[in-house]
Order: sequence, then structure tokens, then C-alpha cells
Amino acid sequence: MAEVWTPMASANSLWASTATPLRTFPVLSGEVQADVVIIGAGYTGLSAAHHIAKSGLVPVVLEANRPGWGASGRNGGVITAKFRQSFRGIDAAHGRAMAKRMHEIAYESTEIVEELVSEFGITAARLTRTGQVKAAHNHATLKAAIDEAEWMKREMGDAEVRILDAHEVREETGSTAFVGGVLNPGSGGIHPLNYLHGLAEGIAARGVAIYQESPALRIRRENGLSIVETPEGAVRARQVIIATNSYSDLTDATRHMQHTLVPFRSAIIATDRLPHNLAGSLMPSGRTYTETKRMMRWFRMVDDRVIFGGRGAFGKQDSEAAFDALRKAMVGIFPELNDTPLAFKWSGLVGMTLDSMPHIGRLDDHTLFSMGYNGAGVAMSSLMGRYLAAFVRGEQPEVGLLDASRLKVIPFYPLREPAVRMVAGWYQFLDAIGQ
Ligand SMILES: Cc1cc2nc3c(=O)[nH]c(=O)nc-3n(C[C@H](O)[C@H](O)[C@H](O)COP(=O)(O)OP(=O)(O)OC[C@H]3O[C@@H](n4cnc5c(N)ncnc54)[C@H](O)[C@@H]3O)c2cc1C
Repeated sequence: MAEVWTPMASANSLWASTATPLRTFPVLSGEVQADVVIIGAGYTGLSAAHHIAKSGLVPVVLEANRPGWGASGRNGGVITAKFRQSFRGIDAAHGRAMAKRMHEIAYESTEIVEELVSEFGITAARLTRTGQVKAAHNHATLKAAIDEAEWMKREMGDAEVRILDAHEVREETGSTAFVGGVLNPGSGGIHPLNYLHGLAEGIAARGVAIYQESPALRIRRENGLSIVETPEGAVRARQVIIATNSYSDLTDATRHMQHTLVPFRSAIIATDRLPHNLAGSLMPSGRTYTETKRMMRWFRMVDDRVIFGGRGAFGKQDSEAAFDALRKAMVGIFPELNDTPLAFKWSGLVGMTLDSMPHIGRLDDHTLFSMGYNGAGVAMSSLMGRYLAAFVRGEQPEVGLLDASRLKVIPFYPLREPAVRMVAGWYQFLDAIGQ
């Protein structure tokens, strides 16, 4: 008897309410054959499908809900060429050659977003490359940000990075909350769900089969092939790609991957449209912005609304307390928003790893994966799709610290939530006392 699967509703986000329509993909029924079956239709899965199809192979994509239901449809749309580990830290721990390679990969990731947007004509993604300002909330963090920027200029050749004084950051943000900052011109912003929809429509138009509401329930081996079973069908393929990131525990077939990630809830609020004068005075250069606090918060202006993101509730559900904390932080930076109602609040799970780096590669000779983007995955997951295709073709791309062998299972997995709570509490304390 077919197992029953109840698809989950999409996040009630600003992105969902302003998204370009996406066709309804079929539910998989019966058995199909492919060269590669990809589990998960976020950026990782769709980009992998695109690059695999480009190699002349046949991919099939299985999505448990609708494409973009996961983090790819609900993120902040901030595009950055970085990892959670700094390049300077990588240089100190692993040497110059490794730091340079990771730097190249980071830049390649922002380039590929531009390439994909252009290849599929995804104008609705409204990709901008206007840069990101890292705004310092005190002199100690400003000094650290400047040191880092100088090092990046000197050692990694990031010539365009610019130091901003307090006045310039005030002009940039419209806020007096910061003592200075650093501008990274290569970063950008995107409408994340329209980017995802454009990718899905684009690859479907080129003949890639995407099945929605078709979760992988079981993966088994038969005659040297993998059979991925869904409630009403199955895909028979030579290789399987697991692209389920922090939602890997939706079913038993992919749940084991969740043990390598600490899921961390990230939340976003969006205000009502601001009156024209006020909108014009906040973030006039249209960049994206982050703070130097450990419990990092970020913000940007989209369609005259302030979008503000940061840590969400602990555990499986949203909580009003977490959204209230974000609102309070936003008003702390922009007091003029005190009376502005919020139009949208939503959240999603970010996949953190023990070494703060994503990982990609083989689990065995017929299973590949890429995940653990640590909250900076819009660009990186798009790039990992290209690298997954290279692995599928039997190549060994040089992925440095992202190599699958470095992915560690979380020790004491059942204790991950209390551990995250403890670390977050400590960070909040340090931020509060200005350390
Ligand atoms: C609130 C939030 C804000 C963020 N902000 C930013 C940002 O501003 N910039 C940035 O760079 N990154 C950001 N990120 C991170 C970024 O969104 C992710 O790293 C990226 O989208 C991961 O893409 P993915 O394709 O690997 O996973 P996902 O997009 O999560 O896709 C995984 C898919 O797998 C499906 N799935 C799971 N199990 C199964 C199964 N058994 N069978 C079939 N399908 C299955 C899920 O339904 C889901 O659609 C943010 C994340 C969140 C949650």
C-alpha cells in the first residue's frame, strides 16, 4: 500500500507574497530511470540537475514539498563571497595555498549566481551586486574588522574592500548606531524565491524532470543501481545526490545526514512599506548590511520595506518572543521604525557544521551530497551544484576544506539543542557587555 505523505505549507514570507508563479510539477507515479536521482529541490539540487544535464546525463529531481520550500525559498537573499571561517583563520590554520583556494571558491560562488541568472534570464530575481557593509557596533569590533579588511587587501588581493568611518556608515545605513565599518563591493542581494523559481522553470524548460510532493522515503540497492522510493513511485539510477541540507530529517531516507548538522533557526521580519521620505533616508545605496556582533544580525531594504534577520527561536517552531527580539534590535538601530508595523515574519533552518564549513563529496561510490552552508549558502549551494556534477562525471574537483572527509558527525547529537542554546546565550551575553 502506498505510504501517505502530507506536503508542508510554504513559509508565509515577503518572498512568497511577491513571487513569480511557478508551474505545478507532477507527483512521481510509477518507476522512472535516470543517470542521477537528486533528492531536494533547493539551489543545491536544482543547480546540480542543471549541470548534470549540461554534461549530457539525465537527472531526475525529487522534492518532498514544492521546489524552494526549504531554506532556498525563505532566506535573506544576501549574496556574499565568504565562509563562516575567515580567510585569515584558514590561512593561520591551513596555510596560504588553502586560504587562496577557499578564496577562489568563494568568489566563484558569487559569479555563478550571476551566470545562472543570466543564462536563464531570471530578471525577477533582481540580482544586485551593490556590495555589503559590515557595520561595527563598537571600537573593538571596528578595529578587528579593519584589521581583517587590511589583511584581505594585502594577502588575498581584495583591492576593492574599503574602510568606512562613522559618518560614512551613517550615510550608508541612515543609522547612528555604528562607529564605522567595512564595505565589500562584491556582495549583493537577490529575491531568493524568484531566483529559485527561475532555476526550476529554466531547467524544466530544458527537459529536466522535477517531481514535487514526492519525498524519497527509502533508498535501496538492486543489481548495481540505486532505487529511490517515493509514496507512489520510484527512480532507478546509477547515482544519488542528497541535497536536503538542514531539512534532511523529513524522512528516514535522508535522516542520517542530519546527524552531521546542527540546525539553527534563523528568522526574518519585514516591515510595512515605509513612507517615501523615510524609505529614502534608510540604506539609500541599496546594499546589504551586517553587524559585527557575535549574534550577527543583517538588514536590507527591499521595495521600501526594511528586512531584518537574525537568530530565531530554538526548536522546531517559530516563536513570537524571537520575532519580538528581532524587532527590538531593529528599532535599536532604526528608532524611526518604532511605530512601523511588521508585515511579514518567518523563519527557517540553517545547517551549521562543527568546523563552520560546508562539505561536498561522496558518501560511497554511488551516493553524493553537499550541505552545511552555515547560513551563507545562496551563492555557495549554487556553486556546489556545479561541483556535484563534476563528481558525478568521475572528476575530483579540488574543494579544499569542503572535502567530504572533513564532515564530522555531531557528538552527543541528542544534546545539540541545549548546546546551541548555551552557545547562543553566551554570545548574547558577550554582545550585551560590549565584548
Ligand atoms: C531564514 C534563513 C535566512 C538565510 N539567509 C541567507 C542569506 O541571506 N544568504 C545566504 O547566503 N544564505 C542564507 N541562508 C542559507 C541558505 O538559504 C541555504 O544555505 C541554502 O538555501 C541551502 O540550499 P539547499 O538547496 O542545500 O537546501 P534547501 O533549500 O533547504 O532545500 C532542501 C530541500 O530538500 C527537501 N527535502 C528534504 N528531505 C527530502 C526528502 N527525503 N525527499 C525529497 N525532498 C526532501 C526539502 O523539502 C527542501 O526543499 C539562510 C537560511 C535561512 C533558513
